[in-house]
Amino acid sequence: MAPLSILIVGCGIAGTPFATFLLSNPSQYAKEKPHITILERASTPRPQGQNIDIRGAGVTIMRKLGIETAVRNSITHEEGVQFVDDRNGIWIQMAADKTGKVQTGTSDLEILRGSLAEICWKRSRAMSREVQSQGGKGIEYIFGDYLESLEQDGEKVHVRLAKSGEWRSFDLVVGADGLQSRTRQMVWGEKGEGERVRQVAGMYGAFFSLPKTSNDSLWRRWYSAPGRRGVMVRPCDATQPDRMTAFMMIMNLTDERLRSAARDGRKGAEAQKALFAEYFEGMKWECPRIVDEMLKADDFYYDMIAQVKMEKWSKGRVVLLGDAGYCASPISGMGTTLAFNGAYNLAGAITQHPNDLPAALATYETKMRPIVDLAQRLPLGGQAPYIINLETAWGIWIRNRILWLIALSGIVELASRFAGPPADKVKVEEFGLSQLEEWVEGDDEK
Ligand SMILES: Cc1cc2nc3c(=O)[nH]c(=O)nc-3n(C[C@H](O)[C@H](O)[C@H](O)COP(=O)(O)OP(=O)(O)OC[C@H]3O[C@@H](n4cnc5c(N)ncnc54)[C@H](O)[C@@H]3O)c2cc1C
Repeated sequence: MAPLSILIVGCGIAGTPFATFLLSNPSQYAKEKPHITILERASTPRPQGQNIDIRGAGVTIMRKLGIETAVRNSITHEEGVQFVDDRNGIWIQMAADKTGKVQTGTSDLEILRGSLAEICWKRSRAMSREVQSQGGKGIEYIFGDYLESLEQDGEKVHVRLAKSGEWRSFDLVVGADGLQSRTRQMVWGEKGEGERVRQVAGMYGAFFSLPKTSNDSLWRRWYSAPGRRGVMVRPCDATQPDRMTAFMMIMNLTDERLRSAARDGRKGAEAQKALFAEYFEGMKWECPRIVDEMLKADDFYYDMIAQVKMEKWSKGRVVLLGDAGYCASPISGMGTTLAFNGAYNLAGAITQHPNDLPAALATYETKMRPIVDLAQRLPLGGQAPYIINLETAWGIWIRNRILWLIALSGIVELASRFAGPPADKVKVEEFGLSQLEEWVEGDDEK
């Protein structure tokens, strides 16, 4: 059998670990290993994005990838979360679980998305070079291009790259191109997108970084404003000691401008910033400086806070991976863990059925369905965003006092456990893939 040829669309958190795992099958000689192409729309691996975390099963998979040292060297060391009011008074603080054993709102592995994406990309590049040194093909990376068309004829998927105009054929195309996946839209149709991409509680989020001030520390500060608006300011990693990250959030079910701005992606950044500035005009606490910095930010990222729900993640020889197929939303705290699980289980399924892709894709569906169902079950039956982000100033006043009473009663630790996602309830199966050695920066350049 000729080696499988696989196109992965998206060099994000899910795509490159999938490639690494696929090349780590110890029962294949290098020459038999799949020929992988990774296509990324951005001109470089996107070093952007703010705080995300790795938890439970995601930690096990991170260790299998051999990137624990690299990840731990890049974490933000966030101490936990403080709920603050207009005057920056703290009503409750919930500490991070630094043991990695308990799932609270802040994990022991908080990292910037850009750092993790870079580690995963470099790890895949090291694996590719190892395979190439043994006579295999490894991974070809194409940056700055995207798919213009995609056709299937049963055995092969034929794609045309938009910028180069080149046609190429693959045995399998993996759509790992995030929440607003073009692969999903091309294969499943744009028409059903409204049904597949389900917004959570009318939420929109803006992420960016900003200079640190004397009020900032390793604690995440979370401020709520009336009208269901909120801001979090969080620590960056050691490479940016003078900066913090911000997440601004709006809940609004009726303003069509917010929705259409989400469809525009990065090219709509100026309009997205203007909308957030309008919504946060006149807000108290540190909102004026945060809005000022948002308007200047060059790492601004905006999207609808949504989940992707699909009955099936594959169609013919095209399969979805990570946010593209089953985004659980940033408020689930499970995005990275799901992306890692998807990458591992898809590679494992292909390893189990090397000559039968339909069987591999069916196995992937079976393994991932319970994990995705669990991850997409949001706290308090999906009511948590409404309880935290209140409509009125009075509501926030009362909420703060309830939080204060919880703090006084000494049950904060117990309450924090309820705030954590179910990442350790996910089991990681063994597929016989190699346990990779710890990779450190520069390993692949030797
Ligand atoms: C720039 C950016 C910033 C983010 N910031 C945050 C954040 O601050 N907080 C948070 O919780 N989550 C953030 N996310 C989402 C988070 O990374 C994912 O929820 C999660 O890590 C799952 O990873 P994924 O690989 O499935 O998707 P992603 O990490 O979103 O990766 C998808 C990749 O596909 C690429 N891509 C998209 N469309 C195409 C196309 N048509 N052709 C080729 N490539 C394409 C993207 O550039 C990206 O590299 C961000 C995502 C991106 C792309």
